[in-house]
Amino acid sequence: MKVCLYCDEKLEGRTDKVFCNPSCKSAHHYKLSQDKEANLYNRIDNQLKLNRRILKNFNKSGKATVRKEILLNEGFNPKYFTNYWKNSKNEVYLFCYEFGFIERKENNRVKYVLIHWQEYMK
Ligand SMILES: [Zn+2]
Repeated sequence: MKVCLYCDEKLEGRTDKVFCNPSCKSAHHYKLSQDKEANLYNRIDNQLKLNRRILKNFNKSGKATVRKEILLNEGFNPKYFTNYWKNSKNEVYLFCYEFGFIERKENNRVKYVLIHWQEYMK
């Protein structure tokens, strides 16, 4: 016995039917699109929180330099940030909430300089 994919009602008639009526069909597709949106939202949200946690862990004193690789291994993804700040030299620091980072090359190693958000960066 087949049931409607949306409301679980028993399906009558044609055997290739999947929904009992067009409104169940559209409700089902609406729900799928809502779930997809929620997934994207949750994924971004989780990555931002993870990024923040990693930056926080590696920057306990307010300023730190860490090899980029180490942060990436922890799950840090630099494509996800919440805001940015440009200093007087036009260098752009990316932030995950109150924790910022900028990429630097030192002795052929790619590093991140980590900073804290300050009032004057507003
Ligand atoms: Zn139905």
